[in-house]
Amino acid sequence: MAISLRWCERPMPELPEVETIVRTVGAELPGRIAARVFCDWPATLRPAVRKAEALLGGRRVTAVGRRGKYVVIRFDDAACAPSRPRHARESITMLVHLRMSGRLLLEPADSPPHRFVHFRLRWKDGSELRFSDARKFGRVIVTHRPEEVLGALGPEPLEAEFSADALGARIRRLRRRLKPCLLDQRVLAGLGNIYVDESLHRAGLHPLRRTDRLSDAEVVRLHAAIRAALQEGIRRNGASIDWVYPEGRMQDYFRVYGRADQPCCRCGAAVRRIVVGQRATYLCPDCQPRP
Ligand SMILES: [Zn+2]
Repeated sequence: MAISLRWCERPMPELPEVETIVRTVGAELPGRIAARVFCDWPATLRPAVRKAEALLGGRRVTAVGRRGKYVVIRFDDAACAPSRPRHARESITMLVHLRMSGRLLLEPADSPPHRFVHFRLRWKDGSELRFSDARKFGRVIVTHRPEEVLGALGPEPLEAEFSADALGARIRRLRRRLKPCLLDQRVLAGLGNIYVDESLHRAGLHPLRRTDRLSDAEVVRLHAAIRAALQEGIRRNGASIDWVYPEGRMQDYFRVYGRADQPCCRCGAAVRRIVVGQRATYLCPDCQPRP
């Protein structure tokens, strides 16, 4: 199924898409040793290229994971280089946020990079991690203190300790509309426009419901729906629509997202598109009654 959306409605990578990247490209990185850094778009990289190269050079990747929508690449403490100043002997983390169009590629250093590649990390083994980003909103942050960025994020919705009670406690006291609340990364990490709409349809909740007026049963349904929507997204390797991440199949299984005027998979009513907080929002008017 081809879904075409106006560019202003283009979906961005969310938790399932980032998780897929971590499980594919990310799985290839542990053990590689950083050598050089190249960047031709200064806003992409923090700190600037020479400092970033000084921080990363000679370090080995120890682990690659995800926090919210960030790819988290951890490097060793370079203890093998005692001549370095003390701060350089702490571990280093590289955070990558794909934003609208970012894509991570692992390619041989001698292959010409695509014109959208603005950041490259060359490994000692002659390969390169390349960050392709047509719209240039993506960010790469090299830091000793990743918690300064990641610490502001809300809990991970797929972690075992994230219970329906925990969700209820977080969102009810905020007294906000449901959709903007769930999009807020400080409330819950990793959800974006696609998976919020899909979760709310699964839960049978209208995106404009007030969070403080949800019943206990509705919170339990919402919690289960968020996890199910994200898990299905991961199982299908995320969604690929207009943007440059081609591997996913989730777009063929959307219940409401991008499906205005098509029948609801549960009741057959026509899916509606409304705008909530300037974001295109898809819902079934019968399954998700207005507040
Ligand atoms: Zn319906």
